[in-house]
Amino acid sequence: MKNLKLATRELDQRTIIKISNVEIGRGFTVIAGPCSVESEEQMFESARAVKAAGADMLRGGAFKPRTSPYAFQGLGLRGLKLLSQAGKETGLPIVTEVIDPRDVSWVAEFADVLQIGTRNMQNYSLLKEVGQTGRPVLLKRGMYSTLEEWLNCAEYILSEGNPNVILCERGIRTFETYTRNTLDLSAVPAIKELTHLPIIIDPTHSTGRVNLIGPMSLAAVAAGADGIIVEVHYDPAKALCDADQALTPTIFKDIMQRLRPLQSFMDDLPS
Ligand code: PEP
Ligand code: MN
Repeated sequence: MKNLKLATRELDQRTIIKISNVEIGRGFTVIAGPCSVESEEQMFESARAVKAAGADMLRGGAFKPRTSPYAFQGLGLRGLKLLSQAGKETGLPIVTEVIDPRDVSWVAEFADVLQIGTRNMQNYSLLKEVGQTGRPVLLKRGMYSTLEEWLNCAEYILSEGNPNVILCERGIRTFETYTRNTLDLSAVPAIKELTHLPIIIDPTHSTGRVNLIGPMSLAAVAAGADGIIVEVHYDPAKALCDADQALTPTIFKDIMQRLRPLQSFMDDLPS
């Protein structure tokens, strides 16, 4: 891999990122919550549901990078406050996306983890800005990006002095249209070979289909990923963003009940 200095892996080096009581890179971390923060009721009900099902962290977007400028763009500061309150009530650290370099410093005051979305993976001024905060960064793979391009973007953050980068494979564009994107699961072992950084899977945006999210979550465990990030809404029919791919709390709970035993089984396998 060209030009990488800090992202490359040496011998058994592995980065473990501590966020309150969660350690990303040790065990299997489940991040769940709605695509976007929509209202107090929606955020708190969704947060309580994912906590009850055993999630480790809470997600929710306050700034939504939407394909259409007329689509719901997120609640901004009000959304961040609701997410932060729901995180405090449930005891779950929070992940939220930041899309504008000018917002990074104040969003970082609320967020435990700053998410860089697929559309912004190569937004270098945004990468430099999040690199200058001490906050862990969840760096999603660009939907048209190679592993080398992705790792170079991680390098931007690392080279600004922020060592806490979590990679997230969220599917890439291929000729297939049945799924929203194509989940590149082979990225997990490849990334593990190339870098010491943890990698999680987003089975939601990669498939875009509720019925495929459970199987791909289990596949993420089997592939050796460090976790998943999934969208769960207390009432998906009412979701203002990504309604077709939101899990109900019941489906999420079912997935968790199969995922945790698989995780224990994998932990016991000889390495
Ligand atoms: C999201 O997590 O809601 C999101 C917009 O993801 P992505 O950047 O992977 O499309
Ligand atoms: Mn979404």
